[in-house]
Amino acid sequence: MSGWGDMAILKVARLGHPILRRVADPVEPGLIKSPDIQRLIDDMFDTMAEYGGVGLAAPQVHSPVQLLVTEDIMDPDADDELLAERSVVINPKITFLTVEEISYFEGCLSVPDLRGRVPRIRRIRLQGFDRDGNRIDREVEGFPAVVYQHEVDHLNGIVFLDRMQDFATLSYLQEFDRYWSASAGPVAD
Ligand SMILES: [Zn+2]
Repeated sequence: MSGWGDMAILKVARLGHPILRRVADPVEPGLIKSPDIQRLIDDMFDTMAEYGGVGLAAPQVHSPVQLLVTEDIMDPDADDELLAERSVVINPKITFLTVEEISYFEGCLSVPDLRGRVPRIRRIRLQGFDRDGNRIDREVEGFPAVVYQHEVDHLNGIVFLDRMQDFATLSYLQEFDRYWSASAGPVAD
């Protein structure tokens, strides 16, 4: 049973741990409502909140399954505007709906203290299942699309460094804050 007062902060795998480079296994739809999966989801939300992430993929907490969570995603260009509510996506599939790219500085709980600008596709179709086993099928655009692409990459053994086209923006957090943050937009975890 999990409930209030029963929170668990999970250990986050860091770059170099082989689990971050594996393709995660799909969750059998009949098991989505199992206590193990529901507990994993709750613990991932607790872990993401503890470390201030915008998103978290199950392999990052040593569970090699196709499951991700995201926090409420605020508009980085307009303070306090909610672009996407917190979500759970199981067995996610992304289809690109445009070739148009956008880029933001991204960070990652598994790549601590580094930020870098990553090109992503601006508009996607996101399919999968929510934590109740209901089908998800929706279009996502802008910064939330970036977050989902970052997290789905984790389920395929890819980290944001692999997606960078130019390492000139790769920065430690302290230097990012000093030299880039005013002009650079936000960070996705
Ligand atoms: Zn990440």
